[in-house]
Amino acid sequence: MDWNKISIVGSGLGGLLTAFLLSKEGMDVTVLEKHRKFGGCLQSFQRDRYSFDTGMHYIGSMAPGQPLHNYWKYFGLSDRLDLLKMDENGFDRISYYGTEYPLAQGYDNFKERLLPYFPDEASALNTYTQKLNEIANSHPLYNLELPAGSYSNHYESVLAGSFLSDLSSGIRHPASSIRLADVLAGNNFLYAGNPATTPLSQFGLINHSFISSAWRVKGGSQQIAELLVEGIRCHGGTVLAKKMVAKIERSEEGYIVTTADGDQFESGQVISDIHPEATLKLLHGFTIQKAFRERITSLPNTTSVFSIYLGLKPETFPFLNHNVYHHRSSNVWTDAQFLFMTPPGKEQGIFANTAVIMSPMDFAEVKEWENSDSGAREKNYFVFKAKKAKLLLDAVYKRFPQLKEAVVTIEISTPLTWRDYTGTPEGSMYGIVKDATNPLKTTLFPKTKIPGLYFTGQSVNLHGALGVTIGSVMTCGEILGLPHVLKAIKQLS
Ligand SMILES: Cc1cc2nc3c(=O)[nH]c(=O)nc-3n(C[C@H](O)[C@H](O)[C@H](O)COP(=O)(O)OP(=O)(O)OC[C@H]3O[C@@H](n4cnc5c(N)ncnc54)[C@H](O)[C@@H]3O)c2cc1C
Repeated sequence: MDWNKISIVGSGLGGLLTAFLLSKEGMDVTVLEKHRKFGGCLQSFQRDRYSFDTGMHYIGSMAPGQPLHNYWKYFGLSDRLDLLKMDENGFDRISYYGTEYPLAQGYDNFKERLLPYFPDEASALNTYTQKLNEIANSHPLYNLELPAGSYSNHYESVLAGSFLSDLSSGIRHPASSIRLADVLAGNNFLYAGNPATTPLSQFGLINHSFISSAWRVKGGSQQIAELLVEGIRCHGGTVLAKKMVAKIERSEEGYIVTTADGDQFESGQVISDIHPEATLKLLHGFTIQKAFRERITSLPNTTSVFSIYLGLKPETFPFLNHNVYHHRSSNVWTDAQFLFMTPPGKEQGIFANTAVIMSPMDFAEVKEWENSDSGAREKNYFVFKAKKAKLLLDAVYKRFPQLKEAVVTIEISTPLTWRDYTGTPEGSMYGIVKDATNPLKTTLFPKTKIPGLYFTGQSVNLHGALGVTIGSVMTCGEILGLPHVLKAIKQLS
């Protein structure tokens, strides 16, 4: 079997980036996607005249010379995506008890904008921004550099929650009794933060990337998937929709990947962009070490999400060029109530066309319907969904009173939607939880113990646009050699 021939399971960002890179470097790739649309979390969907993004609402470090821009140049994205820079003076606003604290772009600006709320915390703000820079500098792949030895990093075993509690003097904002540390952790839904597990490396890289610069894709993140598919096909690769992989088996010289419709794809190597636990279920006839299987199946996954997508009446609700992370209380890690966004259209004016609301949600709430299929769920599921949506919308309308009159259409998704849509266990948003108290166990590398089988996607390295991009480069590095891959990317960045 030709070792250059590679089957890739899933067309999420990780699957498409690895396919793009490998095909550009001369490999023969075939991407198999179970849905009719490519992109996984990059997908946008249409309801009436409205279009909504599902799982990629804003991205960081896309200014020329910054990490994601440098990587995505190679992938043909940096110069072709239609981006809107978010509000420089507060791309994220952390909202508690009627006060909004801005997280601004640019390090000096970041400090300047928060200082009026915490005038005695100048030193803590300096330490904070310095630490983010240290973390970013200590991560070679974040800077497109070759790691000297292993990928492991000191900050993986430090808890972000402990760093933040030590940082702030405990002074509270007089109006809201919020501490600086609560504000700095206020967008933790972005990385499913948990003070008992979230590593400082993950916290630091994500925040560093967004403070460097924050952007939205005008007209939707589906464009990222479309451009990547176009590129893969241009390089001679194959990208197939409605091909759900049902089985991965060993052939004499390589692999046979069988899809649910009975088609078979032979290849020398296989890359899986789906959740590692789902990957293990597809493997037939392999000897997999019990310890490895147990590790993968026992690792906890990040929370799921309840989302409400609103179509709005024209010219009734203002377009907000920032996200609002609203909290019920100062218990910032556990009491996030919702994230509110108004995504930009292609021709964005001063009014919003749509709004998206997301709130963390546990799978347990929908467990009684876990055996139902999407499109054929029981009636009481819809009653449950509508009730939950009403409660959440009431809270959102309190924060944004003009919104209620502006709403024309309402669309809702739950953890069941996410589970069926991306195949992650219990609809987990970001895959396996990275745990600073046990980084070795919870960090997954692309190379598996089975020769020729690799992981990619958000459970490798980190989730999100930049995390998955770096993870894809690590996966391709296992196949082509990391020095070669980085050299090729740097030549174009
Ligand atoms: C609600 C939400 C909001 C988010 N917002 C942001 C954001 O604003 N910014 C950001 O940077 N990141 C965000 N993220 C994270 C980011 O979207 C993900 O980390 C990233 O897109 C995941 O890519 P992936 O390649 O790992 O997999 P996925 O996107 O999960 O793709 C996996 C693909 O595999 C397919 N598949 C599954 N099983 C099979 C099978 N058996 N056969 C064939 N195909 C299969 C699925 O259909 C899917 O297309 C968000 C995530 C969520 C869930």
